[in-house]
Amino acid sequence: MRLIIEARIDDGECDAKREGSTIVAIVDRRDKDLSQLGLTLAEGRSVLAEVQSALVSQQVARWLSANTHCRRCGSPLSHKDSRSIVLRTVFGKMALESPRLWSCTCATKSGAARHSTSPLCKAIAKRVTPELEYLQVKWAAHLPFRQATALLKEVLPLDKATSFSGTRNRVRGVGAQIDAEIERDIAQQPQAIAGEALRQADNVSCVSVDSAWLRCCEKSETQARHVNIVAGRATFAKQAPRVYAYCAQGGGLGCRQARPVPSLQRRHSTRAGERNQ
Ligand SMILES: [Zn+2]
Repeated sequence: MRLIIEARIDDGECDAKREGSTIVAIVDRRDKDLSQLGLTLAEGRSVLAEVQSALVSQQVARWLSANTHCRRCGSPLSHKDSRSIVLRTVFGKMALESPRLWSCTCATKSGAARHSTSPLCKAIAKRVTPELEYLQVKWAAHLPFRQATALLKEVLPLDKATSFSGTRNRVRGVGAQIDAEIERDIAQQPQAIAGEALRQADNVSCVSVDSAWLRCCEKSETQARHVNIVAGRATFAKQAPRVYAYCAQGGGLGCRQARPVPSLQRRHSTRAGERNQ
């Protein structure tokens, strides 16, 4: 027996049957035999790659047909040339034809020099879909770059779409992006917490904070079952580092305000109600 998987685009404007369909995959199996039951992983990867390729090429073609006109006057832009660009997705890498178009004459009439533009290049500037970027960075955060890359290649059709160095560069790129966001947050003026005066410590050079939820083993109708403990370490410019911890407000066990953890309070003289210091 043979299983024939076809893909057909139906945009609702024309007769889909008339436009025909594309054969995505043909799966051959011996008749009346269950020794090879269902799709194999390799077959699944191949089907996904073919479907992705068919879908993306149609989406790009239709998008380009709607983005090759001047935005001022609506005139069609003249074609200069085209080049191939590479798009990486979770279901494979594909080459896309990206046309370069001359700017409209309505712009040059105002004295501006004529130039060319590539709408598709601008639309997919990163050349990678957010899903693939997310998976690469997520697994590279748990595993060495090489193992993360090998894992993704094993379960997804990414033979030619990702590499060890590509994963490493992706992680570095996202890390730089996060660093920039943190720098922007630090540069902003601190806002006072509602109902609390913000205290600023000039001699603190670094503060590290961690948080965990503890679950009470015994059920109680009067107390919440979970409590949030926040702990951290402050490094000072001119004195020894200091450790602090407290129960977060409303975290349960009847905590209505921040309360220092007793053991750390004894060892490090944390005052009742002290936070973030
Ligand atoms: Zn124009």
